[in-house]
Amino acid sequence: MELTLRQKSALENICETFLPRAEGWPSALESGIPQAIAQAMDFNPRSNAGKEFLQLLDLWDSPLHSLLTVGRLKKFSSLSQEDRIRILLTWADSRIGKRRAAFQALRKAIGFLYVMLPGANGARSPVWERLGYPGPLREKSNSLPRPLSVIVPDRELELSCEVCIVGSGAGGGTAAAVLAAAGKNVIVLEAGAYYDDADFDGAEFSSFRNLYTEGGFAATADHSVGLLAGECFGGTTVINYCTSFRTPDEIRTEWAAAGVPWFTSDEYTRSLDAVCERLHVNLDHNRVSRREQVLDRGLRALGWHVEAMPRNVVGCDQGKVCGYCGYGCALGAKQSATKTWLADAQQHGARFVVETRALRVRIEAGTATGVEARSKSGHRVSIRCKAVVSACGSIHTPALLMRSGLRNEHIGRHLHLHPVSNVCGAFEEEIRPWEGTMQAIYSDEHRYLTGNFGVKYETTALQPVIAVAVLPWREPVQYRSLLEKLSHISAIGVLLRDRDGGRVTIDREGHPVTHYALSSFDRAHLRNGFIGAARILEAAGARQIFSPHAKWCSYEPGRGGSLDTFTKAMDSAGWDSGRLALFSFHIQGTARLGGSPRTSAANPEGQVWEGRNLYVMDSSSFPSASGVNPMISIEAIAHRNAAALAARLR
Ligand SMILES: Cc1cc2nc3c(=O)[nH]c(=O)nc-3n(C[C@H](O)[C@H](O)[C@H](O)COP(=O)(O)OP(=O)(O)OC[C@H]3O[C@@H](n4cnc5c(N)ncnc54)[C@H](O)[C@@H]3O)c2cc1C
Repeated sequence: MELTLRQKSALENICETFLPRAEGWPSALESGIPQAIAQAMDFNPRSNAGKEFLQLLDLWDSPLHSLLTVGRLKKFSSLSQEDRIRILLTWADSRIGKRRAAFQALRKAIGFLYVMLPGANGARSPVWERLGYPGPLREKSNSLPRPLSVIVPDRELELSCEVCIVGSGAGGGTAAAVLAAAGKNVIVLEAGAYYDDADFDGAEFSSFRNLYTEGGFAATADHSVGLLAGECFGGTTVINYCTSFRTPDEIRTEWAAAGVPWFTSDEYTRSLDAVCERLHVNLDHNRVSRREQVLDRGLRALGWHVEAMPRNVVGCDQGKVCGYCGYGCALGAKQSATKTWLADAQQHGARFVVETRALRVRIEAGTATGVEARSKSGHRVSIRCKAVVSACGSIHTPALLMRSGLRNEHIGRHLHLHPVSNVCGAFEEEIRPWEGTMQAIYSDEHRYLTGNFGVKYETTALQPVIAVAVLPWREPVQYRSLLEKLSHISAIGVLLRDRDGGRVTIDREGHPVTHYALSSFDRAHLRNGFIGAARILEAAGARQIFSPHAKWCSYEPGRGGSLDTFTKAMDSAGWDSGRLALFSFHIQGTARLGGSPRTSAANPEGQVWEGRNLYVMDSSSFPSASGVNPMISIEAIAHRNAAALAARLR
């Protein structure tokens, strides 16, 4: 994105206020953050978001802005650092949601880039030295051939097949394998590019840019929830953490009651079995890292539930490399879609067209007859087929259906995010939280707070960018002191099964816009989860515990404050949008299956109510939130419904 001189100077001033130069630390400007933010804006396809950002920068240095925020009729650029910090905090703590949203977007972008960007000419970043972080795993090797063959369009293409699958992730990959094995002529269209083991060097900046949707910066419209999803061949299965839970029985019952009886059938059990077998789900790779020893110790001291996590890995090192799992598995141990389903599909003749985004499904006389797409290089790709499967994830599937002219009111609704955040604990001992098995254990102690709703406790490797995602910023010295503690921090992830959903709509250009706010029912469970996480950390011996609120909420067990004062501080900091950092790794439910068009977007077989031969087979098909990490459920649904589709096409 091009900035005017005025906009550029405003952005530089904001960045320098967040992170000015300090002894041993580069400033945000020296780290190249303003330019990187302007470049990152190009990943956001929504022109409105860009316009709002530029308007903010245009107004930022006006004396009126300082007058209205801190009572000084002076430009931001001529204020003292102290006054500039006060201005930023008025945005952080504002009663106006849009202002909090803008602050959170800036906090995240500046923090992410500060820890992600390599140093000059690709050298080690001086910030990594201060964190004690080793940086990427290795140099990228470019020369190795990748095992699957893909088509990258270099001219206009007109292709035909029986089934065109849009999206190559958990749902799309599985559907491709099942349909191709049944003898169907299959083409998979994928917006992202193909990367394999040798490409996975663990470098945070390039990994987010290459593998994640919107370069890792995607978020809800009000920036209150960061949205993490893969955009590469294999989809999110390439960057996910390998946790492999089967759909719990109580969720199967709930989903059957929503109008999809087969969820409680043996047929679905067989699909779950087939998926777990193909992904080699096992309990043999569960070495508990130092980071998770904290969770383990705390849970056991409290007498709470703790169990080993089922994982879809073969030959995982459960050590240094495993901690970089979110940037693709360098060992090829992760049984992602490219290693399993897509490989199977290709063996049965499926073709893969990558770096190509589906624009719309062609629907003629109520029947899907093809897909119109455009490649990254701008070439038109047109596919004729007998059936289309939308499997582009819960943000893009409803957008594709809406762009294709479907109007069922449930398309885009019932968005569930499993909002998650970390309560952090600083420990005396070194933890190096970026290392060790990704997720070896979990706790369901508070999974059933109200009926089937509550929270799961899990941890994740704290690569610097994952850590700063939730670090509160109140001023640069406090922020950097947290960064310096990173090697001694462990965090308990509180994963909420949300009952009340949000919505995906499309903007004028057809790009998805995500709307989401926690209901008071869901907020109460998240609050319970934060208190539970603090109890786990305290029981494990944390010296300091802090929450991901925009306001600083912390206590030092036995030395300063208590769980009670901490809880009061969190309540006073607030639980509504933009008051705390939330993320979603599990985006679900926006084209749900059900028994009637009055309650759902698609029938139990995944066929949308409004169009023949147009199917949904991805996370958007969930009738409600899965309550567990969703990959196995997505694949089992696709497995079951792709087999049914193959039979129908026979
Ligand atoms: C960092 C991370 C870790 C996770 N860890 C776990 C875990 O350990 N266990 C677990 O169960 N779940 C995990 N998840 C979630 C899980 O991986 C996803 O829920 C799941 O992969 C979603 O499957 P899907 O088929 O709906 O979409 P995806 O797997 O996201 O695939 C959708 C694909 O569609 C493509 N696409 C989108 N739009 C278009 C278009 N218009 N045209 C063409 N292609 C398009 C995308 O590029 C993408 O490749 C994790 C998620 C993240 C982000």
